[in-house]
Order: sequence, then structure tokens, then C-alpha cells
Amino acid sequence: MTLFGAIEAGGTKFVCGIGSAEHGSRATAVIPTRTPDETFAAVAAFFASQRALGPLAGIGIGSFGPIDIAGDSATFGQILSTPKSAWQGIDMIARTRAFAATPIALDTDVNAAALAEARAAGAGITQLAYVTVGTGIGVGLVSHGRTVQGLAHPEMGHILPRRHAAHGDFAGICPFHGDCLEGLASGPAIQAAWGLSASSLPLDHTFWQVQADYLAQLCVTLLLGLAPQRIVLGGGVMRQERLFPLIRARTAALLAGYFHPARDAADLASIIVPPACTEAPGLQGSYLLAAQAAARDIGQR
Ligand code: ADP
Ligand code: ZN
Repeated sequence: MTLFGAIEAGGTKFVCGIGSAEHGSRATAVIPTRTPDETFAAVAAFFASQRALGPLAGIGIGSFGPIDIAGDSATFGQILSTPKSAWQGIDMIARTRAFAATPIALDTDVNAAALAEARAAGAGITQLAYVTVGTGIGVGLVSHGRTVQGLAHPEMGHILPRRHAAHGDFAGICPFHGDCLEGLASGPAIQAAWGLSASSLPLDHTFWQVQADYLAQLCVTLLLGLAPQRIVLGGGVMRQERLFPLIRARTAALLAGYFHPARDAADLASIIVPPACTEAPGLQGSYLLAAQAAARDIGQR
């Protein structure tokens, strides 16, 4: 059985694994995110400690961002502007290559998660979006088995929604845009606007309609822009499952019958769904990225 390495690099923890998407993990480690030197020393120590499992055919990294994943860029592989300033300019690929002589693939954590969800969804699903609504809002996109990237990786968490009337004059909290989607509807934005997190807000609070409206606007943009058969909504805030029917109903209302595969909330029940991979889709997706890197490497030989 071919073994791969996976690194799900997050702002609070790095989850590392050795295994494959098909057979699962043979070994895993959770490493708190400290300085880049300390963190990568612990990552390298984990992979060294598991050498007896056998050689790795590739390593996939699903990383927090923004990261430069454009192959022809001078800063390829690096973490770009991030509030975690110690990590800015850190080259995730070079840091990994320093301890592993194997093909390495780097993508965003949400693109990796989208890849894992697309695999779980099966062959009929050619276009899929994975959305995390958590500390930030991130969107990963897969088209025909490949994650979407071009000039950069997509950044749809920062699209500019129409403001909800009941949101008053809340300015939004995105340091770049104020009232972009992340600035209005991420976990910290909910806390800033309403003084409570979604898990504590009363069920009859206006919040639920406002939140559903913003996430429905993202779903409308995704459906019209990419025509995904599936939009997977994950992240801490989406643990509030009551948001799903509200988002489907609002999405149908905003589409207003124009988009024929999604005329009503019932059509959207199989399109807008919670994650199928309950266990770390970012790690699963990183195994798939690793397999793609290994296949590319064999193709180049
Ligand atoms: P991260 O985005 O940092 O990877 P999460 O996806 O868990 O982590 O998102 C954290 C955010 O989600 C926090 O703002 C928190 O308030 C919110 N959150 C976490 N759990 C829940 C929950 N059960 N219900 C509502 N909001 C939650
Ligand atoms: Zn923004």
C-alpha cells in the first residue's frame, strides 16, 4: 500500500498524518502552532519518528492562508499577509522539503477539504464548493477532481454581500474590507454584531435570518458562478444545524426561480449540505493532494 504524508496547517494547530485517503491514517500527530521554527521542528520530528512505516510517495499540505500557490511566482509556497506575523513570508514547501525528499503539493486548507468532500460525494459530483464559517470564512473549490486556482487561490470569503436591513449600521470586522462576507458573518463578526456567539443567541433572535441571508448570498454567487452540484457548509458556526433550512429557503428566494436546478428549498436539500467527512476533511484532502503530487512527479520522469 502506498503511503503519503499529510499536513493540515492551521492557525492554532498542525494536524499531521501518514496514510492515504483510501485506507486512512496509520499515524497522526496534533502539534500546536507556535513559531514557524518550533512548529516545523515538531512536524519533522513526527515524520522522523514514523520512518519504520515506510517511505512516503508524496506529502500534501492544506494550509491556512492566504498563501502563494501560483507556480511561477517569486513568493511561491509562502504565507502572505496574515495577522500571525511570525508566519508571514514563511515558505511552507521549503520548510517541508527540508525534512522530506519527496514530491510536495501545497494548497489551501479549504481547497484540500473540498477535494476530500468531492471524493466522498462520488463520481457524479464534478463541481463542489466547501465553505467553512468559523474564525474566518473560507471557500474551497473543486472542478473535475482538481482544486481551482489561477492568479491565486479563490478568496470567496471576502465577497461583498448586499447588507441586511436588520443588521443596522454594523460596520463589519474585516481589517481589509469591513463589511465583506467574512466581516459580517464569521464567528467573530457574529460576536461583534450581536454580543453573543451563535450557540448562545435565542432561537427567535433576528440574527438567524440575517446570518442565513448572508450565507444564502454566497450560495447564490456560487451556484450562478460555478454551478456546483454540491455546496458543503462546515466550520464551527455551521454546527448550528438550524441554519441549513433557513439558508436553503433564502437561497431559493434570492434565485427567484431563475436557476432551474434550484427552484425551491427542496431542490437545494441535496445541494446545500453539511460535511460528509466528519473526520478532518483537511487531512483527508491533504492525502489526495499528496497523491496528485506523486502522480505528477511520475509523469515528469
Ligand atoms: P477555525 O475557523 O478557527 O478553524 P472553527 O471552525 O471551530 O475554528 O470556528 C470557530 C468559530 O466558530 C468561533 O467564532 C466560534 O464562536 C464559532 N463556533 C464554534 N462552535 C460553535 C457552535 N457549536 N455553534 C456556533 N458557533 C460556534
Ligand atoms: Zn474581507
